[in-house]
Amino acid sequence: MAKKIIQKPRGTQDILPADQKYWNFVVDNFRNVLEGCGFGRIITPTFEDTALFERGIGTSTDIVEKEMYTFKDKSDNSITLRPEGTASVVRAYLEDGISSWLQPVKLYYINALFRYERPQAGRFREHHQIGAEIIGDPSPLRDVEMIALISRCLKRLHLDNVSLQLNSIGCQVCRPQYMRSLKAYYKEHLNSVCEDCTRRYDKNPLRLLDCKEKACRLVADNAPQLINTLCPDCHEHFRTILEFLDDLGVSYELNTKLVRGLDYYTRTVFEFWYVDDNFGSQNAICGGGRYDMLVEILGGKPTAGIGFGVGIERLMLVLKNEESVLVPELNAPKIYLAQLGGAAKKQAFMLAQSLLDNDIPIASRFDKKSVGEQLKEASDLKVPYAIIIGQKETIDGTAIVKDMYTGFQETLPQEMLVSEVIKRLS
Ligand SMILES: [Zn+2]
Ligand SMILES: [Zn+2]
Repeated sequence: MAKKIIQKPRGTQDILPADQKYWNFVVDNFRNVLEGCGFGRIITPTFEDTALFERGIGTSTDIVEKEMYTFKDKSDNSITLRPEGTASVVRAYLEDGISSWLQPVKLYYINALFRYERPQAGRFREHHQIGAEIIGDPSPLRDVEMIALISRCLKRLHLDNVSLQLNSIGCQVCRPQYMRSLKAYYKEHLNSVCEDCTRRYDKNPLRLLDCKEKACRLVADNAPQLINTLCPDCHEHFRTILEFLDDLGVSYELNTKLVRGLDYYTRTVFEFWYVDDNFGSQNAICGGGRYDMLVEILGGKPTAGIGFGVGIERLMLVLKNEESVLVPELNAPKIYLAQLGGAAKKQAFMLAQSLLDNDIPIASRFDKKSVGEQLKEASDLKVPYAIIIGQKETIDGTAIVKDMYTGFQETLPQEMLVSEVIKRLS
């Protein structure tokens, strides 16, 4: 009896070769822009001490309460697969002496993240994120720099249907008072919100504002807004950001219900939404904000920080949906080597190795398919040239070079082929 095939865990996916061009398009663009702005890459461990996330993200958040992959290792240490990127970077900032570098420091990462979520379209239990952090500068200009950077990256990806959602969630000075008025308001409406929201009321009241349930959204619409009760410092910080964004011509929407799911955010929070006109839907493709308390929460001196994360798989989905965006092919073959007969196969194989030595990507089958079938494959692959070695050419030491666009063919000596191909391709 055949053995049963083992399947990948629920909520994970294989990213196959055909999708790699989207992956590279996203990652290369972000990497180029980030490195051009002075960000250095950091690679942190895939798993960390569970306490890092409990302390950093907050024990009352959905992530820590329900979504972490936490387990005991063989030495009975509690380990968690990284559910987000910032806490690890801040840990490294404190542990690796980065806090004594010239401040602010700019770091970026490309990470797999793990969350035990209900799998649904565009949401995976393992997904990949590009993220960046500026640590050590409370200036609102850093907020603007970060937002402008993301906006630049999205433009390079030719994504125009994007809306920047912006809010300020205040600081230790102004938020506690707001939370009291928010709770007072919700106390009157607890019978009209969903079950999750009754739980949030006690544990994480700010999240009441961004519940997706229709009934809860109606209640949230009339809730007091933090933006109206910001302390003078938070107000000035936010005002400066808006002024700079206006001057830069970066458009935004004030979204007073945007709070983000993590406890560590202070002041600025933002998301970039992809607006799909066909489905009338909006999906967050990037999110971030300021976290001026996090370094201190994780044991350092009070240090400001701001960061963002963008989901690679989500952006890949969006790019596939945007048919007008031309995503460059990766190392697409430039030459198809067709051959017929045993001796021709050997000569074609040798020629293939010489072309590869010269960094010319090739395609070939080296099997018994007819020349016609091989040329059909060459045209499907859209290679500019095919090289054909048949029985006659084997004896003559020649090969036929066929221009796949014009159909023009000429016979050349095999020893000239590599230099001729290099010349034609350039
Ligand atoms: Zn404040
Ligand atoms: Zn709700």
